[in-house]
Amino acid sequence: MPAAVRLTKKELIELIESTKDAGCDTACLRGLLAEVEEEDRLKKAARLGVPLKAKPEEMTTEEYIEELRQQSVIEHGTDLECMICHDKFDHLISGTCEVCFREWMLGTKPR
Ligand SMILES: [Zn+2]
Repeated sequence: MPAAVRLTKKELIELIESTKDAGCDTACLRGLLAEVEEEDRLKKAARLGVPLKAKPEEMTTEEYIEELRQQSVIEHGTDLECMICHDKFDHLISGTCEVCFREWMLGTKPR
């Protein structure tokens, strides 16, 4: 759940610092800062168009492969050789063809 904070992150840090100086427990405020930072990270990821990661073990096989595919370098060209089956393709995902990439990634999916 997003933290309902009206302070800026800088103000929050200052608040933590001043609370610490006063000898109070800052654990709660630190938790808040962590939430704000997590929110920043998610916003940044959304802005960059990076898919938000679900836990791999909670994804379906298709989602998992699609996720990894999006993070992979896709090469386009002619006569590209798959490093696993050594057939030629017009595009490769992380150096492998669709079929090999799929099998390779399935082998890495946590169960
Ligand atoms: Zn292949």
